[in-house]
Amino acid sequence: MSEQHNTLIKDLSTVLHYIDGEFVASKSGETFENISPFTNESMNDVSAGQSDDIDRAVQAAEAAFKGEWGQMKLEERLSYIYKIGDLIEAEVEEIASLESLDTGLPIRQTRKMVSRAALNFRFYADQVKNLMFGEVYPVDDEFVNYTTRTPVGVAGLITPWNAPFMLETWKIAPALATGNTVVLKPAEWSPLSANRIAEVIDRAGLPKGVFNVVHGIGEVAGDALVKHKGVKLISFTGETKTGSLIMKHGADTLKRFSMELGGKSPIIVFDDADFDRALDAVVWGIFSFNGERCTANSRLFVHENIYDDFMAAVKERVGNIKVGDPLDDATEVGPLIKTEHFENVKSYIELAKEEGCDVIQGDVPESMSRGNFVPPTLLIGAESHMRVVQEEIFGPVMAILSFTDEEDVVRQANDVEYGLAGYVWTNNLARGHRVAQAIDAGMLWVNSQNVRDLRTPFGGAKNSGIGREGGYYAFDFYTEIKIIHVAIGDHHIPQFGK
Ligand code: NAD
Repeated sequence: MSEQHNTLIKDLSTVLHYIDGEFVASKSGETFENISPFTNESMNDVSAGQSDDIDRAVQAAEAAFKGEWGQMKLEERLSYIYKIGDLIEAEVEEIASLESLDTGLPIRQTRKMVSRAALNFRFYADQVKNLMFGEVYPVDDEFVNYTTRTPVGVAGLITPWNAPFMLETWKIAPALATGNTVVLKPAEWSPLSANRIAEVIDRAGLPKGVFNVVHGIGEVAGDALVKHKGVKLISFTGETKTGSLIMKHGADTLKRFSMELGGKSPIIVFDDADFDRALDAVVWGIFSFNGERCTANSRLFVHENIYDDFMAAVKERVGNIKVGDPLDDATEVGPLIKTEHFENVKSYIELAKEEGCDVIQGDVPESMSRGNFVPPTLLIGAESHMRVVQEEIFGPVMAILSFTDEEDVVRQANDVEYGLAGYVWTNNLARGHRVAQAIDAGMLWVNSQNVRDLRTPFGGAKNSGIGREGGYYAFDFYTEIKIIHVAIGDHHIPQFGK
């Protein structure tokens, strides 16, 4: 293990929950081990929350919602949100190292994610201050109707391990800025940075109970949060099948749900595309975040006229990708999060061979043999009907397909159950728009990799999600809209029984 890993691990202690303003163990005292993706050795223990821990956290959040936080003036509430952003900004390097240690994501990428997390808080504070207003509907000279937005109550946030810190803040920031209180259940495979958020929020001095974290296994702690009647909404990011289960389990308590789910996104390269820029985008879009990225372009469609040249260039890049220690600045692809996931991704590569693909892979240095390293992988000769083209692999693995014309590629691109993102590369402007509009997905990019503008809606179509996060779209989820009808004259009232 590299010295850097050892130094960071030495400072780790048992991860505790953060409930009602205090760091506490589970009532049961139960814990589970947190394993290094780089060496597969145990790094520390994590408190395993059960339903009684969730209940304590929800009660604290309910009390805070009814108490100081609920009564607080907007300017004061938002000043806390800005402060959280500032505190994160001051600790980017430290948090990014923890995140890389815990997840195996390369440090060059986690730094950017943590900076983005700080921005999420500032952005939502601005957004609420400037854009969360009501509407007025005057009706003749008889009524003035107007809308207000109020927070919903206790927000249950359930997050995945693939970009934990960034995705957690993506939910916490709008939930708190709009005035809700929060119980976060982070992914059990990546608990470290979630605890860091709790520490930051504790230092920012938010009233106790406004923000709570309960660690634990999804089917236990997550399920208890989903079923708790005090929790008014669940914002979930994770696998499609988990999302569906959560909606079932939350149905009895009639919550609102936001679902950000899996993807199998196409990237389409026409023969008139800017070859070099398309190449950069294709390679980055699948191999960044170790391929553990919901919006990864895991299906590449190359026009038949440029197929040979383009694929030769992709293969060359794949052979040069630097696989290694996630804490090393030079690393482009690190180890996958956990042995189970690693085995699953490898089993898909075996399946690809059985299904008839030609598998081309980059290199993993021999010194990395203890970690969950999967080399950057291309599945050449993939076809739409194959499982490796239909199912989300969630690793550094890209299926390669070719196409003849626009109609052919739109049909193939839409031939999956997912619909999260899509990327189109062409220098024919009209065709770029046409194809982007024809792809059944929530987010499309034309001549670009995934570059996010925080103001825009984020989310998926088909089995990739329900609802939209991002920008003011988050207000519809995190607030209750109330319409108030005010009579300003003597309008007609039916006179029953007169
Ligand atoms: P997952 O569904 O296994 O787990 C996500 C979270 O749900 C974890 O915190 C887990 O503990 C919890 N959970 C699991 N079972 C639960 C249950 N029965 N009740 C309540 N909570 C439960 O997903 P993952 O493996 O952590 O993440 C990878 C998946 O997330 C991929 O499918 C990826 O595409 C998706 N993802 C989607 C987006 C998006 O915005 N659409 C973003 C990132 C990741």
